[in-house]
Amino acid sequence: MSLEKADALVIRQADFSESSRVVTFFSREFGKFAALAKGAKRLKGPFDAALDLLSTCRVVFLRKSSGTLNLLTEARLTQRFTPQNSGTPGSLNSVYGGYYVAELLNGLTEDFDPAPEVFDLSVATLNSLSAVDSQFPSIIIHFQISLLQLIGLLPNLFECSVCGESVDQNGGYAHWVSQGGLLCQACRREEYSGASISAGSIEVLRRMTQGSSELISRVKLSRQQAEECQKLAVSAITQAMGRRPSTLRYIQF
Ligand SMILES: [Zn+2]
Repeated sequence: MSLEKADALVIRQADFSESSRVVTFFSREFGKFAALAKGAKRLKGPFDAALDLLSTCRVVFLRKSSGTLNLLTEARLTQRFTPQNSGTPGSLNSVYGGYYVAELLNGLTEDFDPAPEVFDLSVATLNSLSAVDSQFPSIIIHFQISLLQLIGLLPNLFECSVCGESVDQNGGYAHWVSQGGLLCQACRREEYSGASISAGSIEVLRRMTQGSSELISRVKLSRQQAEECQKLAVSAITQAMGRRPSTLRYIQF
C-alpha cells in the first residue's frame, strides 16, 4: 500500500454506494487505474468538479495491493473539458468525440501500464475538440491512428503484407484487418475481403502519425479520404478491442 500522486483524466464513473463512486482515470504516471471516491456523489463532496467525466485533475490516491480497490484521497481540477457551445454546429461532435476518447482509453489500455504519450495525445485531442476552428474527422482519425501506433497495433502502412512491395502512390489497396496490414491489387483475394483504401488515403494516415493533434485538427480531408481512413481505423480498433466501440454510432462525419 502506498500513497501516489498523478495527473489524470477521468474516463469513467460508476456508482458504488449512495454517496460514493468508483472513478476510472487515465493518468500520465500510471496509465489506467480505478479508485473509490468516497463522498463523490454528495453535492458539497470532497472532490468538487474535479471528477466530472473528461476533467483533468491532480490526484492523490492510496494504491492497494491487487484485488483491492484503490482509494482516492485528493483530486484537484486542473482542466475541465469544455465542448463547443451548444447551438454551434460542432457542439454535439465535440461532446461525442470526448466520450469516444474515453471509451477507447478504457477499452484499449491495461491497468497500471504507464503510457505518458497516450495521456498527452488524449489531452491534446480534447483541446482540439473544444476548438471552434477544428476539423472533426481529422481530430478523430488522428486520435485513433496515433493511439493504435502508441499501443503497437497500427497496421503496416508501408508495404503489401503478402508480396512486400512498397505502397505505390497510384495503387489501390485493401485493409487486411486480421493481419494488421495492407494488400495490393495483385495479392487481394476473396478470402481476405477488407475495405478498399487508396494510396492517397494511406499517405494521409502516414502523415497523421507524424503530426501533432493541434496541427492535424485544422487539416480538411476530402470525403473519400475521411471515409477510407475512418474505415481502416475503426476496423483496426474493433479488432484490437474485440468489439465495436459503443459510442461509435454517435461519431458522424
Ligand atoms: Zn502484394
